[in-house]
Amino acid sequence: MATATTAAADLRAQVEQVVGPEHVRADAGALLTYATDATPLERGAPDLVAFPETTDEVAGILRIADARQVPVIARGSGTNLSGGTIPHQGGIVLVLTRMNRILEVSTADLVAVCQPGVRTIELAGAAAAEGLLFPPDPGSHTTATVGGNVAECSGGLRALKYGVTRDYVLGVEAVLPGGEVIRSGGRLVKDVAGYDLRRLLCGSEGTLAVMTELTVRLLPAPEASGTGMAYFGDLGEAARAVSRVLSSGVLPVTLEFLDQICIDAVEGFSNIGLDRSAGALLIFGQDGDPGAIERDMARMAEACEAEGATEVRIAGTDAEAAGVLAARRAVLPALSRLEPLTILEDATVPRSRIAEMVARIQEIAQHHGLTIGTFGHAGDGNLHPTVVLDPADEAAVHRAHEAFDEIFAVAIEMGGSITGEHGVGMVKLRHLERQLGAEQLALLRRIKHAFDPNGILNPGKLGS
Ligand SMILES: Cc1cc2nc3c(=O)[nH]c(=O)nc-3n(C[C@H](O)[C@H](O)[C@H](O)COP(=O)(O)OP(=O)(O)OC[C@H]3O[C@@H](n4cnc5c(N)ncnc54)[C@H](O)[C@@H]3O)c2cc1C
Repeated sequence: MATATTAAADLRAQVEQVVGPEHVRADAGALLTYATDATPLERGAPDLVAFPETTDEVAGILRIADARQVPVIARGSGTNLSGGTIPHQGGIVLVLTRMNRILEVSTADLVAVCQPGVRTIELAGAAAAEGLLFPPDPGSHTTATVGGNVAECSGGLRALKYGVTRDYVLGVEAVLPGGEVIRSGGRLVKDVAGYDLRRLLCGSEGTLAVMTELTVRLLPAPEASGTGMAYFGDLGEAARAVSRVLSSGVLPVTLEFLDQICIDAVEGFSNIGLDRSAGALLIFGQDGDPGAIERDMARMAEACEAEGATEVRIAGTDAEAAGVLAARRAVLPALSRLEPLTILEDATVPRSRIAEMVARIQEIAQHHGLTIGTFGHAGDGNLHPTVVLDPADEAAVHRAHEAFDEIFAVAIEMGGSITGEHGVGMVKLRHLERQLGAEQLALLRRIKHAFDPNGILNPGKLGS
């Protein structure tokens, strides 16, 4: 015990030399705060928490950790939902929120360069100030960091038209566990020299390297946007409307759905006039020039009506549009009010199978006696089945885990994925082999070993 305490003090002293004592914490409050992230029910126990400000400081800490074989868990804002920043093997939680500078927004090269601790909303705001768009917009954009977005390859409400974070990462500066700094890509649109490591780092969940600078692609901001909503008697009709919209030559910026449980919860929470008797709600939107928006919104409304929508509304003002999108963003807080514990999950199926998948989720929920609301990105086939329950009811928690195991198995059976955007982290590691197969998983592990031979980066997570 005395030896462990001495080792911990020694580690702390070494890290303090790199970042200064004021940027290292091992007090009970910090150890408690950084023991968890946004993932329900998961908790670890860090040895210390360090807040570096520069790439050199990150490299210094990694060198120490690698030499001592101490785990390092890179962390942005800790909003991930897959246990990605849980220090379940102890070690150093490396919080990157002091690396929060936007270094450049270039209207000539249509890029922005920033440090990983910049919040997504700040980067989007800096781009917007120059008439440009940074499209990735996860629901957590007011809190999550760009480094976290890249490490998770986050999606968002605009992914159908604009793609996900990966599609905007042009260059990455990253520190390897031995302290070496690499730069992959840059501000070039075309660059095929070498393996595409920046793409590999995208979605690597802190297991390969710590990203310290990001160069992202920007687009000219669209002139205007339109938003609408359609109610359906059931999700089957809504799903058919999605197929009809997508085959009508329109690529919407937004195509989101809520099932009946979610509609009811949002209305109970926000009181914004949603029709609680509806079986499903589809939210659709387009951006671009005003003429194209008018045409596409009309086509989407027609597609919904043709599939039996009971009511279709197109927002006439910005405030109305914001209200419609707020309904979608309110789903999680609304469901959270139903019971003390909310487990939000993430699975993807081919979009033609959304209705079938939601029906299977409801069967599974009924079989296990659970309330599962499902909402998500209909246009991407990305569903968020969300269970609400009382954590004191251990049997219900157990049944919820069983239900999600079944849901992931069904997603894979339908040619889908165990995660569309929230990552594998620690909570889905046991499902990964089923999706990827043993050979591919072994290759992932060899890649992990090539980057991180001592296995210090986020051990027990994706690829470990
Ligand atoms: C309310 C809510 C809504 C959400 N909505 C969405 C959504 O719409 N779409 C979506 O995709 N996700 C969503 N998420 C999940 C989450 O917000 C995203 O994954 C987000 O990108 C995580 O950012 P973060 O800064 O919080 O990262 P963290 O949670 O701190 O870290 C996430 C992962 O990235 C790694 N990491 C962080 N920074 C670095 C770095 N600099 N270098 C290397 N690795 C690093 C960590 O080790 C960890 O594995 C939501 C979460 C919540 C709570």
